Amino acid sequence: KLRLENFTKRFGALTVIEEMDLTVESGEMMALLGPSGCGKSTTLFAVCGIHKMSGGKLYFGDSDVTTLPAQERSVGVVFQNYALYPHMTVEQNIGFPLKVQRMSKSNIRAEVERLADLVQIGELLDRRPAQLSGGQQQRVALARAMIRKPDVLLLDEPLANLDAKLRLEMRSEIRRIQRETGITAILVTHDQVEAMSMCDRIALMRDGKIVQLDTPEQMYNNPRSQFVAGFLGNPP
Ligand code: ATP
Ligand code: MG
Repeated sequence: KLRLENFTKRFGALTVIEEMDLTVESGEMMALLGPSGCGKSTTLFAVCGIHKMSGGKLYFGDSDVTTLPAQERSVGVVFQNYALYPHMTVEQNIGFPLKVQRMSKSNIRAEVERLADLVQIGELLDRRPAQLSGGQQQRVALARAMIRKPDVLLLDEPLANLDAKLRLEMRSEIRRIQRETGITAILVTHDQVEAMSMCDRIALMRDGKIVQLDTPEQMYNNPRSQFVAGFLGNPP
């Protein structure tokens, strides 16, 4: 379980997030949904520790991780551009976080195989990223994000670079992987269909605040404002 309490983020004089509360239950996939600039990525960066919070607290389970350095947090992150290492093979990409931890080669190999199985790219381990399709690169990025068995998986617009067909396929693939592993996940997206089809609950954001947090059905059937109704009904 993950909890943000009174989270505030300022860049200089600009307040981007104001006193946000958010709880993501264990094993749940939560969407952070909202228009461009509403603060979705900023929230994700605070959770993974890339950005310092200006105010508030962050808990993983019962532990206060507000000031814990990013590399000591039990999180895996997939960014929009995947950020794979171009000169490394798929196997080396996936295993890299364990190499940094100085795990033995044979143990790394076993872990890479476990993850490659999970994301179904067992035959691609010797290729380099440039020799993969967008969807395959996405799978490699997911495997790398999860190889240290993080408590929390963070996905920032993971499907934005894929064509329509692959996007559909990877929606259900990411959901399958999340369910199979039972990992607690946050998916950042500005696509309401993606949020509704992939996530257990949706936190809809506007101008640095959560304006409604509900299951997809609840939000669709009972939008609490014109903004929510409009956002769900008309893709921006
Ligand atoms: P998008 O859907 O376009 O990715 P977002 O919801 O992820 O949008 P954020 O990237 O979180 O939006 O940005 C929220 C606000 O904070 C924006 O107004 C942005 O300009 C501002 N912002 C983000 N990073 C910085 C920064 N390093 N310095 C100053 N302002 C920033
Ligand atoms: Mg963003």
